[in-house]
Amino acid sequence: MNEKTASRPCPVCNETRVEVLHRLHFHLARGTPLPEAYDLVSCPRCGFVYADTPKSQADYDRYYVEFSRYEDAATASGGADNEADLHRLEETARWLEKYMAPQMRVLDIGCGNGGLLKTLSKRTPIRASGIDPAPRCVQRLIAEGFSAHQGHLGHLPENCGTYDFIILSHVLEHVVDLSGALLAVRRLLAPQGKLYVETPDASRYHLEDLPPFYFFDPEHINHFDTASLKALGVKNAWRTTDCVEKTILLPRNRCYPAAGLILEADASAFAQEGESIALKEKIAAYVDASLQKLHNAKTSLADAVLHRPIVLWGAGSQAQRLLENSPLKEARIVAVVDRDTNKQGKFFAHCVVQSPEEGLRQLPENTLVVICAAIHAETIRDEVATMNARLPCLIP
Ligand SMILES: [Zn+2]
Repeated sequence: MNEKTASRPCPVCNETRVEVLHRLHFHLARGTPLPEAYDLVSCPRCGFVYADTPKSQADYDRYYVEFSRYEDAATASGGADNEADLHRLEETARWLEKYMAPQMRVLDIGCGNGGLLKTLSKRTPIRASGIDPAPRCVQRLIAEGFSAHQGHLGHLPENCGTYDFIILSHVLEHVVDLSGALLAVRRLLAPQGKLYVETPDASRYHLEDLPPFYFFDPEHINHFDTASLKALGVKNAWRTTDCVEKTILLPRNRCYPAAGLILEADASAFAQEGESIALKEKIAAYVDASLQKLHNAKTSLADAVLHRPIVLWGAGSQAQRLLENSPLKEARIVAVVDRDTNKQGKFFAHCVVQSPEEGLRQLPENTLVVICAAIHAETIRDEVATMNARLPCLIP
């Protein structure tokens, strides 16, 4: 195993000597302030697995303002704008209901389009507030009658009050400075207040049938499971009082594993023995399985994409991975299309990202559409067929 000194010390225990599990490469849109490569590392002291990213919290903060993929309600999750997302949020709201009370001040940090606040409010008349870095999300929430502020964990709005219940749902896996984030949350929490944290569950990555390296992207830089979330809590003087193992259903019967915890600030928690984290072997197994799957994807692309014009459908993380790690790197890409209006206009794979309606017009003879979408690839293939039945598609 390859040992090194990390540029980012372990965000749970501060250890600086780490083991490298794998190096990841991404093709990013021009101007993206995130790294095009980082080492996935494991901390030999506490067992945590994370991205040794060379970028700072400020770089990530800027990214989430300028490149948010949670703004466009038609493509994003988090707004309860499609059936699967609504189902996921209703399940979370059902589990959280026992912690809610009328007039309770509830704050969702990183609320996106506010789907969880809306589903919670339907069940209990809470005083719901949201904070998000993306201006469009904040505007939408205010227009719908919620209290909302633009901000993020590293820069919370001033005088935004204190809260009885704070939610960090699918947020902490994006944060460079975890201790700083938990300290900022504590300042907003009323005495006896509770914090709900939900993240992907890295102890189950290897059990899911999803595209190779799906769980590793430029945004997810911490890989938690219940034990590591508890350990992070202990290190920062938070006590875990409840936890839940979740399975979020994705289209076509695929699953996304997640872990949820209720934490309470407790100075004596600091003295507790942290739970041991056993993620390294599970994530190493996931990396091995991904390498095998990637090999198969490369084989399917090798003959198909060379010597002909390619349209890439998708400029998200699936495309970011395949463009750096497959024959797509050498392909002649003539257009990139994406439904996400926040991606349109950005420069990706030597093209300006267009809407499918624009990008699929007047294509050269023999063009192939390569669909780079981890979850909705089959739906996109049907959509291409509706738009232009003669256009061949490939799902790597
Ligand atoms: Zn550690």
